[in-house]
Amino acid sequence: MNSVTVIGLGPMGQAMANAYLDSGYEVTVWNRTAGRADALVARGAKRAESVEAALTANELVVLSLIDYAAMYAILEQAPSAALSGRTVANLTSDTPDQARQAAAWMAERGAVQITGGVQVPPPGIGQPEAQTYYSGPEDAIEAHRSALEVLTEIDYLGEDPGLAALFYQIGMDMFWTGILSYVHAQAVAEANGISAERFLPNAVKTMDFRYFLEFYAPRIAAGNHEGDVDRLAMGVASMEHVLHTVEASGVDGSLPAAVLDIFRRGVAAGHGQDSLTSLMKVLTR
Ligand code: NDP
Repeated sequence: MNSVTVIGLGPMGQAMANAYLDSGYEVTVWNRTAGRADALVARGAKRAESVEAALTANELVVLSLIDYAAMYAILEQAPSAALSGRTVANLTSDTPDQARQAAAWMAERGAVQITGGVQVPPPGIGQPEAQTYYSGPEDAIEAHRSALEVLTEIDYLGEDPGLAALFYQIGMDMFWTGILSYVHAQAVAEANGISAERFLPNAVKTMDFRYFLEFYAPRIAAGNHEGDVDRLAMGVASMEHVLHTVEASGVDGSLPAAVLDIFRRGVAAGHGQDSLTSLMKVLTR
């Protein structure tokens, strides 16, 4: 019978443990707050009584924790020998440097780390087309391909254990900024009596940036920041209109004000007649 250990039972770890149970795996679970395992145990998961027991139960250990500090706080509860011979699929978010240090820390204890960055929310686990960035030793990923694919498809990036974390964080840079822009715009909409249901179709259209990404990416790659389609000076004027509208609606303007500040710095650096993409030069220290 296939078997796996899942450590960390937040919404994501719970979704993962459930996906393994759905696929007929023998699943051992451990969580700092033990009660979070109750529903999984009721479905047939085994509750490990210690971190050591969780680690030694299976060769493949999936970690889903808030950050790597939580990972060390947990793994250091077990003797280091408990990690020996394990493959640790670390699906915990943190920085590329943390991922590289953790891979070395695991190697010192005889374990292999596969770094992962899950690209879907918990309901996406086990669903078609869900993907996770992976990096680290390709042979370890291949050896566990079928188990990893219970969760999501594998988007393998390379041997560097930091690479999956890097791609994940770049994505989260876009995600948090983008999704906050939606929350902010909806606050302005509500302040003007426009419900979330009413605004939804417009919001969906506006958030579809595919055309812009496919237009700008080759130009960025070619170093072309020509202002033939959009000029940063136009962007400044537009953001001023946005900020005035937001403030007149009684909504906090700090988010559009931050965008306007970056646009103005671009103009001050001489890019008023260049494209928005010229801001990369202003943003890169
Ligand atoms: P959290 O990021 O809140 O992680 C919760 C888990 O971390 C729980 O098991 C919690 O234990 C544990 N934990 C937190 N602090 C400590 C600590 N000091 N010591 C020991 N354990 C600790 O929830 P999620 O499940 O949502 O996320 C897990 C990972 O998945 C994160 O890295 C997140 O970035 C990533 N992710 C999440 C997505 C989402 O939409 N939720 C999407 C993609 C990735 P306890 O139950 O005891 O508090």
